[in-house]
Amino acid sequence: MPAPAPITQDVLTLPRKLSDDGPVNLVGLTRDAMRAALIAAGTPEKQAKMRTGQVWQWIYEKGVRDFDAMTNLAKPYRALLADHFKIELPEVVERHVSTDGTRKYLVRIAGGHEVETVYIPEDSRGTLCISSQVGCTLTCSFCHTGTQRLVRNLTAGEIIGQVLLARDDLGEWPEPGVVKTEGRLLSNIVLMGMGEPLYNFDAVRDAMKIAMDPEGIQLSRRRITLSTSGVVPEIARTAEEIGCLLAVSFHATTDAVRDQLVPINKKWNIAELLDALRAYPKASNSERITFEYVMLKDVNDSDEDAHRLVELIKGIPAKINLIPFNEWPGAPYERSSNNRIRAFADIVYRAGYASPVRTPRGEDIMAACGQLKSESERAKKVRRPAATPATDG
Ligand code: SAH
Ligand code: SF4
Repeated sequence: MPAPAPITQDVLTLPRKLSDDGPVNLVGLTRDAMRAALIAAGTPEKQAKMRTGQVWQWIYEKGVRDFDAMTNLAKPYRALLADHFKIELPEVVERHVSTDGTRKYLVRIAGGHEVETVYIPEDSRGTLCISSQVGCTLTCSFCHTGTQRLVRNLTAGEIIGQVLLARDDLGEWPEPGVVKTEGRLLSNIVLMGMGEPLYNFDAVRDAMKIAMDPEGIQLSRRRITLSTSGVVPEIARTAEEIGCLLAVSFHATTDAVRDQLVPINKKWNIAELLDALRAYPKASNSERITFEYVMLKDVNDSDEDAHRLVELIKGIPAKINLIPFNEWPGAPYERSSNNRIRAFADIVYRAGYASPVRTPRGEDIMAACGQLKSESERAKKVRRPAATPATDG
């Protein structure tokens, strides 16, 4: 028998790095890429679809990480897989549990970089807030992540890996043969962690396709929400290629204020953003666009702002999510008072829009929106002395 063809990056369009040396990580490959990888490793083409389905189910439905546990595959085939591949997740280096049950994971990815993933349990659902980049190129002035420069995009494997590691921690892999879709602990995903997901579109799309796959994690596209600061040219693709729900970090009702808060507004202003949202192929009354609006004292929280907001979004199936500003050390803003937030919410509600006020979760472990970064920075400071010579600082 001829030796199996070597697996090269060209053949597979694999995530950078992973195929450079050693076994290729199967986590994060789309079905097509996994099929190509299995063929390149010597799987006969005729069997490749079936083998992909089997391996896929072991990884994403059953949570198996060891080829030897894939008992419906013949032993020599398991050995072949183990020769060429690995099933690897990012490493959880810290885990914090808030008094309100929120769990925050500090996750280390290749290169030693760290991102944060937050699990938020609620009565009727459990939401995982995942990161798409290390840091962020955008510099929203109220966001702690925005003060950390971009280090790199996450790969699809590192993005879906956050879902897998949270399921590990929650103990949510099914009994053999039992697929649970109701009453799940991890029932929803929001792309609202570190980074701008639409600046890492392909990896985010591939990871979310894996999350939605009917033979794996099986989350409905309606249980996934992608939040963008307003990358206008990529908005339509979100509906077309991912099909998930959309949230937009709106935060201001005039270009002058939005330029300050969300500087990407200088590139695509409020009018251009609203045009893209009006055209969002999936928007409907059952799939409304979420407008996120952070409440900053005396900056964007007046009655006039509330009235302007409802005028601006007229005609867009929308709900307004009011986010009390979460403070971080050195932040140049204060949170609006509860009375102010309520008055703002009432105006929006009377205009016919749902206007829930988001309860900050996990504040005691710095896991609330916009606080991500601080803990990893702090953690690094704590760890650094052990690893770094004393002369270093
Ligand atoms: N980059 C994407 C997704 C991540 S941010 C985006 O900007 O949409 C997730 C949400 O938290 C965004 O609406 C963001 O504006 C908001 N946010 C950022 N910093 C915050 C803070 N300090 N307090 C409250 N919300 C904040
Ligand atoms: Fe980046 Fe979003 Fe923070 Fe803005 S709000 S800096 S886009 S993570």
